[in-house]
Amino acid sequence: MTDSFEARGLREKLIESIRQKGIADEEVLRAMKKVPRHIFMDPAFLHHAYVDKAFPIASGQTISQPYTVAFQTSLLNVKKRDKVLEIGTGSGYQAAILAEMGVRVYTIERCRELFLKAQQTIATLGYNIHFFYGDGFEGKEQYGPFDGILITAAAPEIPPALLKQLKTGGRLVVPLGKGDYQVMTVAVRTGEETWEYSSHGTFVFVPLLRGTQDK
Ligand code: SAH
Repeated sequence: MTDSFEARGLREKLIESIRQKGIADEEVLRAMKKVPRHIFMDPAFLHHAYVDKAFPIASGQTISQPYTVAFQTSLLNVKKRDKVLEIGTGSGYQAAILAEMGVRVYTIERCRELFLKAQQTIATLGYNIHFFYGDGFEGKEQYGPFDGILITAAAPEIPPALLKQLKTGGRLVVPLGKGDYQVMTVAVRTGEETWEYSSHGTFVFVPLLRGTQDK
């Protein structure tokens, strides 16, 4: 099962509620209406997939709240054919939203189980996404520079390697903070050695961790 009439109806309502919460980027909303979020979760949780909440996936991780996905994707400000690096593939849902928007997606996951599962899920939807198993702190220099970098886990600081892998004019979106919540931060590369930073409210993410995990 990939999608159904019932799921489409639930999704339509969810996306309208996200619009009400202030997301105005029509391309983001269109992509979120198209991608069936429930297939990124356990099939028993159809209704949970279409409420605006984060939800547990494997390896003690979570699929981000739909509003958060919409917010981070809007902040990235991408256009078709842009090259984006995501740190923290998780379920693969965020990567699918970007792919649906015509973005060339490179995504890194440190948990082997999630890395494998996300690829299976994406295969059923047919998106062309580049998956990597590894530590996102280092980025993927050989595929850069990127128009956008999206970190979907809480970072204690912005990994310096990632700032260097942005194109000039490129944007990095990251929930930044060491404590119980993080400040959504955008870094725009303005020159060879210069970046401009802005803050966009507080969120709660699972932590960005060093190294890889075999399970
Ligand atoms: N974007 C995901 C949600 C991710 S939750 C989705 O759409 O479902 C955060 C993910 O980041 C987790 O899967 C976690 O394992 C991963 N992660 C944490 N630290 C990482 C690192 N250093 N490199 C790569 N992935 C990391």
